[in-house]
Amino acid sequence: MDILTLDFMVRAMIAAVFTGLAAPVVGTYLVQRRLALMGDGIGHVAVTGVALGLLTGTSPTWTAIGVAILGAIVIEVIREQGHANGDVALALLFYGGIAGGVLITGVAGQSAARLQEYLFGSITTISVTDVWVTMALAALVILIGVGLSPQLFAVAQDQEFAQVAGLNIRFYNVLVAVLAAVSVTVAMRTVGLLLVSALMIVPVATAQQLTRSFRATLLASMLLGVTASFGGLMFAALVADVPPGPTIVLLALACFLLTWPMGVLLRRRRRQGLPFAELDPLAHDEIDEHPHEHGENCGHPAVPHGDHVDYLHDGHRHAPHGIHYDEH
Ligand SMILES: [Zn+2]
Ligand SMILES: [Zn+2]
Ligand SMILES: [Zn+2]
Ligand SMILES: [Zn+2]
Repeated sequence: MDILTLDFMVRAMIAAVFTGLAAPVVGTYLVQRRLALMGDGIGHVAVTGVALGLLTGTSPTWTAIGVAILGAIVIEVIREQGHANGDVALALLFYGGIAGGVLITGVAGQSAARLQEYLFGSITTISVTDVWVTMALAALVILIGVGLSPQLFAVAQDQEFAQVAGLNIRFYNVLVAVLAAVSVTVAMRTVGLLLVSALMIVPVATAQQLTRSFRATLLASMLLGVTASFGGLMFAALVADVPPGPTIVLLALACFLLTWPMGVLLRRRRRQGLPFAELDPLAHDEIDEHPHEHGENCGHPAVPHGDHVDYLHDGHRHAPHGIHYDEH
């Protein structure tokens, strides 16, 4: 392997690590809100953004991010309206994104092969500038997605509750949509716009097989995401001569298939081990220690809930129960 080869592998490795960490962060919130396919929709819309970059001779990354953010906000607005025809409107947007992208690429005099780099990824041809952009955007997504996890989790889990707790629902919904758009653009070079959603969702689905608490799912999905993207890249480059994007996605899917039987077992064991009263889907994730005493003026939003009061704290709501806290 000569220096040149090594150079582009190093760039690809850095991009893979950052993408693998960032994509599942947003995916966690999308899965929680049952919007698993939102990333896929944004990916379709972003095709037009890439084509605009090719047409104008500017960086497709920046035009893609602009169009993706615009598309994500439109998707969020259509979703919020909640009309019966909402998913027809979304479908039209997605078809328009792909068709517009292919058409504009043709007008720009670029071949379909050029567009294909963005549809299925082209991480091994990533430029130094693109690596920096990928790192910066991924870091931003991770910083906001992990840093604001208490608020984002509360809004994603239960909008009514979050409203009671005084959170601006619309702001956080749009924030997640924008983060999703940024993640799509970040992952575009790694797995491609048509497979972007897989890297956002599959690691989360896998983590959910094994973990129960929100925070554990978030961290485990980041670990799985980086394992799949780095492992897939290495496999594609060193073991087989295949494109990295699809390899990364198939590796993520393989992890899911491996953990699925474990998830079935864990859920069955849990069900057998618990009395019927605790089968409530929201119930009793016990945490052993709690360094902080919640009360009227503890600074955390208090939310009356059934026969007790929950406190919004650390990404979830919980309530004192005997000598421990119950986590929702
Ligand atoms: Zn408190
Ligand atoms: Zn409660
Ligand atoms: Zn607490
Ligand atoms: Zn309890």
